[in-house]
Amino acid sequence: MTPGCFLQSLSGPGYSRNFQQTKEELTRKLYCLYNTSVFHSKLPRNMSVSWNKKMRKTAGYCITGQERGGGNRYARIQLSEKVCDSADRLRDTLVHEMCHAATWLINSVRDGHGPFWKLYAHKATLAHPELPTVTRCHGYDINYKLGRHSKSLDTQRFVCALCTGQLVLLTPAKTRAPTPFANFVKENYGSVRQDLVGQSHGEVMRKLSVDFATKTKLSQS
Ligand SMILES: [Zn+2]
Repeated sequence: MTPGCFLQSLSGPGYSRNFQQTKEELTRKLYCLYNTSVFHSKLPRNMSVSWNKKMRKTAGYCITGQERGGGNRYARIQLSEKVCDSADRLRDTLVHEMCHAATWLINSVRDGHGPFWKLYAHKATLAHPELPTVTRCHGYDINYKLGRHSKSLDTQRFVCALCTGQLVLLTPAKTRAPTPFANFVKENYGSVRQDLVGQSHGEVMRKLSVDFATKTKLSQS
C-alpha cells in the first residue's frame, strides 16, 4: 500500500472503531511516515509524543527547549485525548506539531506559524496531497460528552497552543501606542511560555521582564 492510500484510509471507518486501542501504534506509524516523507528523517526517531488528558481547547502542543549549558535542543509533542479522538484528527494534528518541532530542531527557530513553519507545512501538503491543507488552526467539533449532557457542543476552533498564545495577545485597537515592553511581551510570550511549560503566567511575565531589562541594557551599552 502506498503511504498516500494509508493516510486517506484514516478518514474511513476502519480505524475509528478501534481508535482508542490502536492510537499509540498509529501515532508511531504516522510519526515514522512523516519523518521520512516530509522531514527527510531529520527528526529524532524516538521523539516523545504523549497524550494529554487535560487539554480541551488545543488539539496538540509542541514543547521545545534546550538542555542546560547550551546542550541539545529537544522537542516533545503532546496530543489532546479529548480533541484528537479519531484517526484523521490524529493524522492532521501530528503533522502540524511536527512542523513546529522541525523549525526548532532543524533550523533552530521558534517562529510560531511563521515562514519556517509554513515551509514545512507546505512540504507536508506536497508530500501528501491527500491530507487536508496543513494550516495554523484546526476547526473541530468536540465529540466527548460533557457531564450529563450528551449533545455535542457547537463547533469550536481548536488551535495548537501557539495559535492560542497569539490569539490571547491580540487586543482591540487602543488609543495609545503600545509600550516597548508590551511589544516585547507580544513578540516573546509564546517562546518563553514554551520554555517554562507548566509554570504560571506570573512566572512567564517575570522571565519576560528580566529578558527585557537585559536586552534594553545591552542595546544601550
Ligand atoms: Zn501550531
